[in-house]
Amino acid sequence: MSEETHIHTYEFAYKNKDGTEMWRCADPTCPPKKYRADLVRDKLSKCPSCEHSYVLDRESMRRRRPKCPRCRDTREGKLARTAGKIAGSLLDDILLEEEFPKVPFPGDNPKQEPKPEGKTL
Ligand SMILES: [Zn+2]
Ligand SMILES: [Zn+2]
Repeated sequence: MSEETHIHTYEFAYKNKDGTEMWRCADPTCPPKKYRADLVRDKLSKCPSCEHSYVLDRESMRRRRPKCPRCRDTREGKLARTAGKIAGSLLDDILLEEEFPKVPFPGDNPKQEPKPEGKTL
């Protein structure tokens, strides 16, 4: 049994007549239990997209199926990922050039990778 390490994938269940929001765990292995919103707030929750754990804060709880901050804002997430990729490939290029100076072989077309254009924000 690994109940201690289980992190609930909290999602909105329903609203009581008195206005209390009830949340539940989306994990099928978890017992069908409902939790009051004020009890799950600021607790660790598992992101349904990337399965990383994050703190279920007030902002996340505005959605019925909250995601971690990384997956929540897809625009920012995409930018961060793209930036990471560019930085990574540049670093690779630099290291490769330093260790192995490029000597083009005759008949061998050096591959030109299309460079992403910097967008003006
Ligand atoms: Zn659970
Ligand atoms: Zn996520």
